[in-house]
Order: sequence, then C-alpha cells, then structure tokens
Amino acid sequence: MTKCPRCGKDVSSRPGTICPRCGLRVYEVNEKVRCPEPSCRALVSKKLDYCPKCGCKLKGYNFSEFIKMARSKIDETLNDKF
Ligand SMILES: [Zn+2]
Ligand SMILES: [Zn+2]
Repeated sequence: MTKCPRCGKDVSSRPGTICPRCGLRVYEVNEKVRCPEPSCRALVSKKLDYCPKCGCKLKGYNFSEFIKMARSKIDETLNDKF
C-alpha cells in the first residue's frame, strides 16, 4: 500500500493504480527516472521537469540539440563583429 500524494487515501502500490477518491494516476507520480547528469544520477519523479538535486533538465534532454544551440550562439557572436 501507498498513499495518494494528492488526497492521502491509501491506494495500492501496484503499477497502473488510479486513486479511487480523487482519480489521480498515482503510478505516474511514483514513476522515477534517473537524472542524466553523470555526477548526480539521482532518482527523481517523472513529473518533474528539472532534477531537484542538481537542477539539470530531465525532459527532452538532448545533447546534440544543445550543441546546435551553442553553435548558433557562436555564429551570432561572430556575425556581430562584422
Ligand atoms: Zn487521491
Ligand atoms: Zn541531477
């Protein structure tokens, strides 16, 4: 058994559980993902966008996109000089 994080009702901790009182999908809240930061690796709720421990982004974490963004920033800076 686990407690519903919204209303506090005792609900089953089995996967797929929905709180019978408030309808919250308890399993989604309890689902954990590992922080992508190699020095952190904290287990955090899937509901969160950012890791509470190191503050890095959990959703849509894409390294190649980050590189692309950094590159366009450099291009911008270079273009400003001319
Ligand atoms: Zn509930
Ligand atoms: Zn982290």
